[in-house]
Amino acid sequence: MRKKNPEYQYLETLSKRLTLFEKEKKKLERLQKGYAAECSLDRLQEFLTKDKLPCIDDLYLKTNESCVQIDKLIVVENTAYVIDVKNYSGKYTFVNNEWIRDNLPLQENIFEQLHNAMRAVKRVLLKAGSDLEVKGVLVFMNATATIDIKDSVADLVLDIREVGGWFIEQMSKISDQQDNSWQEIINRQKIEPISSKEVFSPKRIDYLQKGILCRNCNKEQKRTTYAFKCPHCQGSEPKETAYVRSICEYGVIFCDKELLFKDLLIFLGSDVSKRYLREILTKHFGPKITHGVHVSYRNKVLIFDYWFANKMDYFQSLEVRTHWKPKKESDESTFFDEKAH
Ligand SMILES: [Zn+2]
Repeated sequence: MRKKNPEYQYLETLSKRLTLFEKEKKKLERLQKGYAAECSLDRLQEFLTKDKLPCIDDLYLKTNESCVQIDKLIVVENTAYVIDVKNYSGKYTFVNNEWIRDNLPLQENIFEQLHNAMRAVKRVLLKAGSDLEVKGVLVFMNATATIDIKDSVADLVLDIREVGGWFIEQMSKISDQQDNSWQEIINRQKIEPISSKEVFSPKRIDYLQKGILCRNCNKEQKRTTYAFKCPHCQGSEPKETAYVRSICEYGVIFCDKELLFKDLLIFLGSDVSKRYLREILTKHFGPKITHGVHVSYRNKVLIFDYWFANKMDYFQSLEVRTHWKPKKESDESTFFDEKAH
């Protein structure tokens, strides 16, 4: 599954709980657009090739100074295609080694970005003794984009109308004899995405909405015995899922911190049960890490869907609880007997 990068997860999670700065809003918008374009290319490829093209998606490789992200790497016959996906709209011209939009040169040269990614792939392959040729492919996924390449370039530039045909053409070249040892070579060298550079400033903590917020509309909701119910959008979520999901939200926002009980209590708001929070931490976030008298849990800095990707069947099985009848008021105390203050 293609994942949102750490910065995207951070800004998206943060946006549910406070008003982002203008700069952050723009960044989030760019990340959303980029991710949507990559996902729609994945869907098109899946539909046309049924995953028969030997491919690695969303690959991170180390370079001397930092790391590069490669949207898609496809190998057909003796060529490795490094694919970079763009979701630009408008008219773009590449002339005199420069990208022009609205008569202004673009600050970034997207061919250079592509070449940088290609160099990282080439280095890994060469070091492992592979003689695959590496080629670049730039794909513009937004149907409103017009791309005019005046210079002669070695890279392939495709728009959304052309890329489907290109996939099919590549698929026709695949043979049973194709050597797929490259996948092992690349997978050995791939790294985890480098975590978000953003560190949440303590100055903003007062502006952060606390509590277990609705998973659909991010507003405050009411708890019942087994579920949280949202009076705004009428959505509901099992209590256990809502706690776990919100703890993940804390982890993504406070990416430089481990999960500490006292911090989580503040973040989750005055309505949480201390006893239940302890149970949830032990059950889903264990083992405990002890530093003297302090106890914490490891922060993986991932949103709920990624952190618990292997446990989704379990959480799906809890969904039925949103239909369970709440216990009478008097019985609720057995679940929330130790309310936080
Ligand atoms: Zn809601």
